[in-house]
Amino acid sequence: MRSELPALLGGTPIRPDGPPPWPLPDPDVQTALYAAVASGAWGQYRGEHVCALEAELAAFHGVPHALTCATGTLAVEVGLRALRVGPGDEVAMAAYDYESNFLTVHALGAKPVLVDVRPDNWQLDETKLEAALTPLTKAVLCSHLHGGLVNVPAVLALARPRGVGVIEDAAQAPGAVLDGRPAGTWGDIGTLSFGGSKLLTAGRGGALLFADPALFQRAKGHLNRGVQQLAPLSELQAAALRPQLRKLHEATAWRAKRVRELFQSPPPLRATGGSGPGGVGLPFPPLAPLGAGPNLPAFYKLGLQYDPAAFGLSRELFAKALRAEGVAFDAGFKALHVGRSPSRFRAAGALDHAADAHARCVVLHHPVLSLAPADVRQVAEAVAKVYRYRDELNRPAPTPDPES
Ligand SMILES: *Cc1c(COP(=O)(O)O)cnc(C)c1O
Repeated sequence: MRSELPALLGGTPIRPDGPPPWPLPDPDVQTALYAAVASGAWGQYRGEHVCALEAELAAFHGVPHALTCATGTLAVEVGLRALRVGPGDEVAMAAYDYESNFLTVHALGAKPVLVDVRPDNWQLDETKLEAALTPLTKAVLCSHLHGGLVNVPAVLALARPRGVGVIEDAAQAPGAVLDGRPAGTWGDIGTLSFGGSKLLTAGRGGALLFADPALFQRAKGHLNRGVQQLAPLSELQAAALRPQLRKLHEATAWRAKRVRELFQSPPPLRATGGSGPGGVGLPFPPLAPLGAGPNLPAFYKLGLQYDPAAFGLSRELFAKALRAEGVAFDAGFKALHVGRSPSRFRAAGALDHAADAHARCVVLHHPVLSLAPADVRQVAEAVAKVYRYRDELNRPAPTPDPES
């Protein structure tokens, strides 16, 4: 029957309305915004909401100090400045990371030193970090990506004795727990993003977290002397964020539960000789820790170690076919060393796993994970459907008949 075909071949999409919008409608955010308008708070430069949000971010994370700013990228820049990163310094970071972080290191005149990622979760490989550290190293920048968590305690064990500072970029992991502590509180400075697609969103925005009052003061000085005068967080942004932060624990637990369900009965793929996925789960390992323990991942994206050979479709065709089903899969990041002049970085050893992540990572965008279990099950159903039709999807489209 035609409607059973993959949507890419003319069938009916599994989720005809496509991926859910983000942010999802939230009456608490509406109420907070209405109240901020009614009270006049929305017209202030630095009123009750920005101050309260900073206090609430500090309390949520169990740290003494938090600062808000215009974007997560600016938070990373100010964090690096507070660690006194400048021209001629080196900053160690994963070769598979958010590109803006790489560009920010350059903007400060410093050189990124790229470290490979772990084969099991494609996060910064802490066992490869030591080889990257030199007398020029000023900071390590580590980002928790796609639901994965960097072993920041191990990073600190290497950095601290050398006087090297650690930035923990938790833009993709607000509400996550790493070894029993909130993500963003292990590093000397933690950073968050409130960008439009992020789990906590105000359309734009960012924040920094500090345990050390001296780093907090230095970061505050940089913000107040510089770009913060042009681009602080507004009262309305802060008012919209406060109710989201209050519900973050609950939302994180909900999404983590949905993700665990997605992996409950992964289907056998071609390698096992099966004719198709008999199970209902996703067939590729997640980058996130899903077991019980002192770690709770947060899913801005759900990253998977996609295997084109096992699935029988290129990564690009896989993502395209799933997007046609209304499920927001995409390729992951480009690795930072691929296609870039070697003069722009130093490689600390082989970067094979980062190249592998570059070639194979796929990510599911998070909004669907906030919906009902049945919605999330459709993600796995869509993957199973695309798998069933992999041969048809691989066939080149027929050339249109010039007569018709
Ligand atoms: C989104 C993001 C940021 C910051 O993004 P902004 O859009 O500048 O707020 C930083 N690091 C990572 C890993 C991100 O995903």
